[in-house]
Amino acid sequence: MAIQSLNPATGEVLATFDEYTPEQTNDILTSTATAWKTWRTTTFAERAACLQRAATLLREQKTRLAETIALEMGKPIRQGSAEVEKCAAVCEYYAQEGEAMLAPQPVDGPGRKAYITFEPLGTVLTVMPWNYPLWQVFRIAAPSLMAGNGVVLKHASNVPQCALAIEQIFKDAGCLENIFRTLLIGARQVEAVLDHPSVFAVSLTGSEYAGQKVAAAAGARLKKTVMELGGSDPFIVMPDADLDEAVKVATHSRCGNTGQACIAAKRFIVFDTVYDAFVTRLEESMSRLVIGDPLDQATDMGPMSSTTLRAELQGQIDRCVEAGGTIRMGGATPKGPGAYYPPTIITDVPRTAAICQEEFFGPAALIFSVSSEEEALALANDTPFGLGGSIWSQDEESALAMTSEIRTGGVFVNGLVRSSLHLPFGGVGNSGYGRELGTYGIREFTNVKSVCVG
Ligand code: NDP
Repeated sequence: MAIQSLNPATGEVLATFDEYTPEQTNDILTSTATAWKTWRTTTFAERAACLQRAATLLREQKTRLAETIALEMGKPIRQGSAEVEKCAAVCEYYAQEGEAMLAPQPVDGPGRKAYITFEPLGTVLTVMPWNYPLWQVFRIAAPSLMAGNGVVLKHASNVPQCALAIEQIFKDAGCLENIFRTLLIGARQVEAVLDHPSVFAVSLTGSEYAGQKVAAAAGARLKKTVMELGGSDPFIVMPDADLDEAVKVATHSRCGNTGQACIAAKRFIVFDTVYDAFVTRLEESMSRLVIGDPLDQATDMGPMSSTTLRAELQGQIDRCVEAGGTIRMGGATPKGPGAYYPPTIITDVPRTAAICQEEFFGPAALIFSVSSEEEALALANDTPFGLGGSIWSQDEESALAMTSEIRTGGVFVNGLVRSSLHLPFGGVGNSGYGRELGTYGIREFTNVKSVCVG
């Protein structure tokens, strides 16, 4: 089966790659396993030097990498450049902080002396999506390498050039040969990768369906998993919110990356006293977005990653309307080439409609009106997902009190929900489990070993 790179802005096929055969895949896994035997004995300083060089290369090649991202999945070039910069930052962060995060921890009490160590275990398989084709990989690869593990990447089948570019970065950075490898394989080969004895864990970012399949396959082999799945983040606008700032961030959150982000704000829960003002201003703000060629520096919103996903989004929007929803703006697939879709606002969807329980992976905002804090919180939690959420209020104390009532892996007050280098990132419920980033992230794929004397 061929793996294809296709420009979603034009439909043009950019490149086609033969999928690696099972034998090629097995050879790569064996070479990574061999490399790991040396890598696990390297010092933190040696691993940090590899990550520092990777950061330098990322910055040097920022424009070219952002262009590759734009061409393969349609992200506007300015957003792609920011993504590459964030990858460089995560490499530097773990290069600088990794050793302290993994330092042995003394424990008073048991025996004469006791401590905990965090040791590498082998190869981490990363099954990654196309929406942040570099960031999603670097945020798991940098801590895994720093912790002394090897990494193999099975990237989404529509971003093979990004996948190969990442492999090349680690190679050119002079990291130990084969310690990071890309596998150009389809989803069907993932189980065979899990069979390899050196692969002790898998981290997957993607849909619930993919998460269920890979977690089940890993579970059958007793291999650890971290699952970073979808989200339907609530964005709660309280009566005293700074509406200018809230609208600015709402636009960015819902339409950045053409709405294809797990942590995008998807359900806007707005107090009735500011509902009309918020909806009017959001419509104005979304109307001002420049939609067009992702390679153009002026573009705010490019195409979606494929016409298939656009058709799925259109189906969801049609079902919203059937359920009683009102299209305030957008809502129709444009004619012409490319997988473009306009910013869309939908109001009046009955909360009991089944569609409210789904993730909208495109630039479509569902807006609900509420009249009390209890109602806002109940609606925020009325979803199978639990990734992120935000609260907008000038009463910081009250907003902070509300954070403990929201069932998600993260809550931001008066700020954009984002994955930060310093904070653990992940979800609860159908958004998955386990954490990436921060101290919790780097320790996920280590052997937390208790050592006790006497
Ligand atoms: P998928 O979840 O299908 O793909 C993500 C990764 O998982 C890809 O590498 C894919 O490989 C792999 N994969 C998919 N199915 C399996 C399987 N059965 N066994 C092993 N690996 C598998 O994402 P899509 O691109 O199809 O997007 C569909 C939906 O997923 C979106 O609408 C959105 O809801 C969600 N999604 C969430 C993301 C997030 O950041 N949380 C990111 C992307 C998507 P391959 O490409 O070869 O199929």
